Amino acid sequence: MTFVLGLRCVHCNARYPLAPMFEGCPACATESLASGLTPEYDYAAIRAALKDGPLEEERVAGVWRYRRLLPVIDPAYELSLGEGGTALVPLPRIARELGAAEVWLKDESRNPTWSFKDRHAAVTVSKAREHGATTLVVSTSGNHGVSVAAYAARGGLSCVAITYPGVSESARVLMQAYGARLAVTSPEGRWAIMRSGVNERGWYPAANYTDIPTNSAYGHEGYKTIAFELHAQLGGVIPDLVAVPVAYAEGLYGIWKGFDELVKLGRAHQTPRMLACEPLGGALGTALERGNGPIARVARTPTVARGLGGPANSYIGVAALAVSDGLAAQASDAEILAAQRDLALDGIFAEPAAAASLAGVRVVHQRGELPRGLRIVLVSTSGGLKNLEALSGSFLEPAEIEPTLAALEA
Ligand SMILES: [Zn+2]
Repeated sequence: MTFVLGLRCVHCNARYPLAPMFEGCPACATESLASGLTPEYDYAAIRAALKDGPLEEERVAGVWRYRRLLPVIDPAYELSLGEGGTALVPLPRIARELGAAEVWLKDESRNPTWSFKDRHAAVTVSKAREHGATTLVVSTSGNHGVSVAAYAARGGLSCVAITYPGVSESARVLMQAYGARLAVTSPEGRWAIMRSGVNERGWYPAANYTDIPTNSAYGHEGYKTIAFELHAQLGGVIPDLVAVPVAYAEGLYGIWKGFDELVKLGRAHQTPRMLACEPLGGALGTALERGNGPIARVARTPTVARGLGGPANSYIGVAALAVSDGLAAQASDAEILAAQRDLALDGIFAEPAAAASLAGVRVVHQRGELPRGLRIVLVSTSGGLKNLEALSGSFLEPAEIEPTLAALEA
């Protein structure tokens, strides 16, 4: 059973019931601020129930192994495709380069639709079912829509996916294969259509549609399970730094919250520092740099790291960095592609957005802000097959040769 109590505003701590709230906290919203909501749990009751036993339940599928700390009340609504349980791969060569004690890569490409979004979608779509939804709507640049489409199919819900011109072929084909109805419009127009669908048709949003991203209150809870898994995979050791690629920082916030809950449950002494990894000009790093309020609005700049960047950052990302003594790093496309190439030469084929975690740590290292001897986790959010277009022209097809060893060696 879950020990969820209700929703709380990350900014002003206003409390709300576990309702379908899609536009953040109404109590503290202004022109320049909109804060996300997050579920709260009865940690004392969880501690009493668990005693010294494991956090996860046995013989439960996917993220629901941690259902005590997830916001779905009736397990009958839980959907799983076996998400989570992803590999943690040591990267000793990268550790030597960075002067780190250890570097690990959490390879989230090993999820059912090949990205960490499956943890989010498992919780979002399950909670939507519990709220009585029949049609989901998602605006997406790729991975998010693919994942929501798969879980919607799994749960017997309709899915409307709104994307923009230039979406990758893999994303388009996957969303359609999973049965989503796909529409293409301008990046700015997507949110307006979504808002209308929510308000006029009663569609349930499975992604952000507010100008300052607030997202739904539930999806980031799926990302907490990355922290729980890391804690188990590292034998109870808490890493010093966890690098996460960010757009609206739901992943970064969720992973930080998972570690914070380990502290609340007496299983860790502190959370790691969180590192938000963005492309150049990203809104979160810009907000921290400007220092005149938590939200920055920036021009949308094209980046090879598709899925990252966005016209404004979220408050939850700022909050997670503030409480974890965290930091932000912005990497160029060239640095992101170099990180992708170097990970591939270690046997990990990440998509550019996922390789931004390594690129971001390198940026901090180059700034002289990375202490020696750290234990670092890079969250690699998705696999390189999702964005082969980023490498078009990088690897040419070899010319056909005569079938002789001499021709081969020539
Ligand atoms: Zn508030």
